[in-house]
Amino acid sequence: MSGSDKPGLMPVEAALARLLALAEASEIFESERVSLSAADGRVLAEPLLAELDLPPWDNSAMDGYALRLADWTGEPLLISQRIQAGSAPTPLQPGTCARIFTGAPLPAGADTVEMQENAVLAEDGRVAFSAPLSVRQNVRAQGQETRIGDSVLPAGTRLGPIELGLAASLGAAELVVRRRPRVAVLSTGDELVEPGLPLGPGQIYNSNRRLLMAWLQRLGCEVIDGGILLDDLELTRAALGALSDVDLILSTGGVSVGEADFLGMALREEGELALWKLAIKPGKPLTCGQFRGVPVIGLPGNPAATLVTFGLLARPYVLRRLGVQRIEPLGFPLPAGFTWHKPGKRREYLRARLENGRVVPYPNQSSGVLRSAAWADGLAQILEGTTLAEGDSLRFIPFSEILG
Ligand code: AMP
Ligand code: MG
Repeated sequence: MSGSDKPGLMPVEAALARLLALAEASEIFESERVSLSAADGRVLAEPLLAELDLPPWDNSAMDGYALRLADWTGEPLLISQRIQAGSAPTPLQPGTCARIFTGAPLPAGADTVEMQENAVLAEDGRVAFSAPLSVRQNVRAQGQETRIGDSVLPAGTRLGPIELGLAASLGAAELVVRRRPRVAVLSTGDELVEPGLPLGPGQIYNSNRRLLMAWLQRLGCEVIDGGILLDDLELTRAALGALSDVDLILSTGGVSVGEADFLGMALREEGELALWKLAIKPGKPLTCGQFRGVPVIGLPGNPAATLVTFGLLARPYVLRRLGVQRIEPLGFPLPAGFTWHKPGKRREYLRARLENGRVVPYPNQSSGVLRSAAWADGLAQILEGTTLAEGDSLRFIPFSEILG
């Protein structure tokens, strides 16, 4: 259960805390007003305030009959009006009931609804109820969901289908959201080729660019394709310089130990550079700095390492730049369906799936193997310095928690 005690390895929490502090120091505050239909995935810049009570009036939770319980003697009641959802009732005539349908406003004077299944309609048109009835049963009270002036969603909320539905229920046609962050994606490596082109000797297709661009789009970013950057200092300088109007440059590759690190060189010359060795696997090397004032994050190049470090570190950074407070993915304790004998110095994130309620890792956990993640449902976290027996509990982070 110990932390990483190997000197020089930065624990994941420490790296995240630093990245979040950097994000808060360069928060993107500009906002824009967008229609609800364009607000999915955006971040609220202002709290959503209720301009209505919800529901706006007491209404029926059932198809049935509305009555005033105190006036009911136990005798069958005449039906004095019929109230459909969407209609405006008249006050309840004393000594009668109203036929009422789900969502229809309760007439003034009524305080109780009996569902139609429990009522007996007699031939003379009266309705018999059987005791006991309790006052306000099947009544949805005015304001039970919101009161006028309530802050229903705080600023910094990420909008998804549920929040948009809620905003619509309050009659909001537009919302004020943070502007989209402009994020440039750069893929470094002489060996990289884009899909659609033939592979030459020693070349591989660029997977990280597509992975990150799709992911950033889901996060509500405006994504700038920085293309493939050859391993060359001059080209690296020029590429970074051409991206002066973005909010973040996200690069992959070129940060491995022992490699000519052109990104690092360029940042050292004309910006700032921190090289972190993280206690994370896959992952480990991560570059963090700025080039002429533009923040730069350099992720490791192996696709599974790109996935894990983006999901656990760069994604929260991007969201925090927009003021999102809740960035911690939910993780669930689940029993391991495997054993783990060798305690590691780095926190491991295995690409794993659930089989019969247990977490099973993909057989090949090489950081170059992205197929492992496509097979998996999420990441199984194995803390530094721990071993696991089958059935031991571990934290499982579903991909659905981090992919959007
Ligand atoms: P590097 O950090 O540049 O040494 O890259 C580490 C490993 O990841 C190497 O095997 C690279 O070929 C591979 N890699 C780097 N960038 C990409 C990329 N964009 N797509 C696929 N593989 C990559
Ligand atoms: Mg490389």
